[in-house]
Formats: sequence, C-alpha cells, structure tokens
Amino acid sequence: MTKGKVILAGAGPGDPELLTLKTLRWLQRADVVIVDRLVSREALQEYTREDVLIVPVGKQCSDSASTPQSTINDLLVQYANQGKLVVRLKGGDVSIFSNVLDELKTLTESQIDYEIVPGVTAALGAAAYAGIPLTARGYSTAVRMLTYYRQDLLNVSYLQDLAHTDDTLVFYMSSGNIDLLVEKLVQHGIAADKWIAVIEQATTPQQHVHHYPVHAYLDNAAGSSYASPTLIIVGKVAALHSSFGWMANSDSSEHYFTPLTIAGADLYNNKKLPIC
Ligand code: SAH
Repeated sequence: MTKGKVILAGAGPGDPELLTLKTLRWLQRADVVIVDRLVSREALQEYTREDVLIVPVGKQCSDSASTPQSTINDLLVQYANQGKLVVRLKGGDVSIFSNVLDELKTLTESQIDYEIVPGVTAALGAAAYAGIPLTARGYSTAVRMLTYYRQDLLNVSYLQDLAHTDDTLVFYMSSGNIDLLVEKLVQHGIAADKWIAVIEQATTPQQHVHHYPVHAYLDNAAGSSYASPTLIIVGKVAALHSSFGWMANSDSSEHYFTPLTIAGADLYNNKKLPIC
C-alpha cells in the first residue's frame, strides 16, 4: 500500500476565518484530522468532509485526559501507513510553543511525507483583535514571544532585561503566573509608561481585554483568574488598546474552546465532537 501523507497545519487563534486557504483546502481533502484543543469546532465542522475521522488529542480536559505526545506520534504514523491523508491541526501556528519537533522527528524516522502550513499565531491574532500594533513606530522595534508558565524559565538577569527593553513582550501560557510576572517586572524597574493587556479568548466571540499600566496591575487585578486561553502583552504599545481596540469586550463566561476527549478512547466518525 502506498503511504499517506501528513499535513502539519495551523488553525489560527480561534476565529475560523483566520484559517489560511491552504489549510482549508487540506481540511476539505483530509481522511483524518488529528486536532488540538485550541482549535475552533466550527472550522472542523464546516471545513471537513462528511466522512472524515476527527481525532481529538487535546491536552487539557484534565491531566489524566491529556494525550501523551507518544500517542499522537503513533497516531500520525498509524494513519499515514494506512495510506490516509492526515491533517495534524494545531491551534495558532504550527511551530510556536508546540511539540511539532517531536512529530517531525517521528515522520522523518518513519519516512512519511509531510508539509508544514503556517497559521496565525495567538500573538498576532490577539494583537489585531485588541487593536494593539505590536511594533508601532515610536513605541517598539521588536516583538518577543515568551512564556512564564514555569518560574525557572526566566532568571533574574533575563527578567531585568525584560523590564528594561523597549521590545514588546508577548507571553503565552502565563496567565497562571501573571501576578508574579508583574511583581518581578516592577521589582526590576519597568517604566511607568509600559502597559499590560491581558487578552482572554482572543479572536472569538468571548474575547475580553483587561488593560492597565503595569504599575497599576496588582492594585487593580491581583488574584484575578482568566478564562483559557489567555495571552499577555506587555509594552508601551499595549496602551494603544484604549484608542484602537475595535471589538467590544464580551460579558459571557462561556468557553469558546470546549475540551475534547482523549484520543483512542473516543475515535469518532460523525463530526459530533464529544465534551468532557
Ligand atoms: N501554537 C499556538 C500556541 C500554543 S500554546 C499559537 O501559535 O498560537 C497555548 C497558548 O497560546 C495559550 O496558553 C495562550 O497563551 C495562547 N493562545 C492560543 N490561542 C489563544 C487565544 N485565542 N486567545 C488568547 N491566547 C491564546
């Protein structure tokens, strides 16, 4: 049997219309879609074939329902070896804060053809939908994509650098540590004209932007918890949200990305996506 092929594609940050035409075309042809949690169900439902097999491999129903990376790798190989066209659909862009390297290694080791299709990463989607030009002239000449989900990721000298740089800082997977992050930036002397924008469920109908001067964050918002997923933008540009934000904040507490159940236990054919 001839081997199939795997398309590693980014679905964008949420709004189904932010998916690229290329990803759309691959989805329309796919036999199997192996999909992350942070992917719009609407996109999956609208853009795939009636007889597609959708395999959720989300990481966040609960820890016990996370799909191990080795299972995801095995699924890619298993379906490709059956001659299937497999789309591995990831939230945002394929390569930003993802395990794509593991998947690439698996595919090359198994001699399976693949293509990589980029997607709109959360930083770009959230910035656009919050009206924050990330490198606005006169404000910032660079953007850094970072994470602070584990404190040891940023040591003292790095935090010092982050507090003083004019680069715009975008933090993924960090809202759980936001108080500590702000505390450290203030401690290391971040300037009073730097702002922080916390963008919940960006580009979805549930988008909500919270917005403060960095120095005022803890007084106003310490202890806040945010709906997943949330992105944090720090820098002078974050102040521009008040002038150029164009999307009304949602008051809904609904979650746009409802968790999908673990692969293997719930392979399903009929596009009815399970909820856990
Ligand atoms: N590959 C993805 C990132 C995966 S890491 C990308 O390129 O966007 C997951 C983190 O991305 C989340 O914890 C959150 O910080 C961010 N994220 C993804 N989608 C988001 C959204 N719609 N709104 C806000 N943050 C989002």
